[in-house]
Amino acid sequence: MTLRVRRPASLILAAFIAMGVTTPSALADPVGSGQVAADPTLGLRDLGVDPTLSFYGLEGTQSLVIPVPQGVAPAALTASVELPFTLRRELPFDPPVGSFTVLQNGRTISRVDLPGADNGPIRLPLTGAEVRDNAFAVSIRTNLLPPEGYCIADGSTPLRLNGVAVEFTGTERAPATVADFLPPVLQRLTRHAHRNGIRILASADDHVPGHRELSEAPDWKQTFPEHCMRGTPGQRKIAETHLRNPMVIEPEPRDPVELAAEVRAHDGDILFHKHWFDVFTNPNLLPVLDALGPDRVILYGVALDVCDKYAIEGLLAHRPGLPITLVTDAVRAIDADAAPALLSDWERRGVRLATSAEVLAA
Ligand SMILES: [Zn+2]
Repeated sequence: MTLRVRRPASLILAAFIAMGVTTPSALADPVGSGQVAADPTLGLRDLGVDPTLSFYGLEGTQSLVIPVPQGVAPAALTASVELPFTLRRELPFDPPVGSFTVLQNGRTISRVDLPGADNGPIRLPLTGAEVRDNAFAVSIRTNLLPPEGYCIADGSTPLRLNGVAVEFTGTERAPATVADFLPPVLQRLTRHAHRNGIRILASADDHVPGHRELSEAPDWKQTFPEHCMRGTPGQRKIAETHLRNPMVIEPEPRDPVELAAEVRAHDGDILFHKHWFDVFTNPNLLPVLDALGPDRVILYGVALDVCDKYAIEGLLAHRPGLPITLVTDAVRAIDADAAPALLSDWERRGVRLATSAEVLAA
């Protein structure tokens, strides 16, 4: 396997925790309300999943977990089928020489014959696939039945699905309140990063009972009720910020040289786990940042007055020359009254404040 190393032109640091955002009253005209789509088709890359699936041998299987935007249901997977090199010489096939089967928990969702041409389109229905926690998990199995006397050696070129996309039915839910419209903005930024090869450095709390910020009588500044508890759905990132092939970096100190090499070779996003809301309490953040050498950082996510604050203050303190852009409509404070002072203080200290529309147009 060849690893592609991308040197990002820019980089997004999403100081994102799954803790509830306080919900101020509804916005009259939320940003992006015009951008919801009916029956959208989304490429797997936009959804943070590798859009190419390879199947080796006569029977190959690939498992997929695909995030589902709010308000829609999966209808079908579409792709073009790249045949194994040896099979291409047998074209055209009559009858078909194989099939794709989509399964969920051992149950067959659909079965479709291999197209009779190389790079032919295929549509694998997903009707009946169950969605859980804003995602669905399926496996795709290939079954090749080459012509009599024909041999496909294991390890030869694979059967591939290229440009895999998901057709959804329904309408991405129109945002009506702050809590509704923040996820679509986060999703647009996340999709933009994935489309443009921009590496996302994300963080997530990963708590177990006894961590110092957890309290039964929280002050909502230094202590909080139980949240992001390890192994629970609340610890996972929401579908809108689904990461592409994330490399998870725990807060235990790693050898910086080894870590730098690993990060440079990694094709995908990076997720820092943390036990306290300051992402810099993961001592591996600065070595990773230095290994990637971004020319700027674009920051979005929640909460502005907790995780975002520590991320910005940490960057200003540790890497003062690194330009920071804060996406003002893609952040929310737990204490909304605290936001204006934080923003003006950061702006005075050189942090650029930009809207998601400005960031997406750049
Ligand atoms: Zn926490």
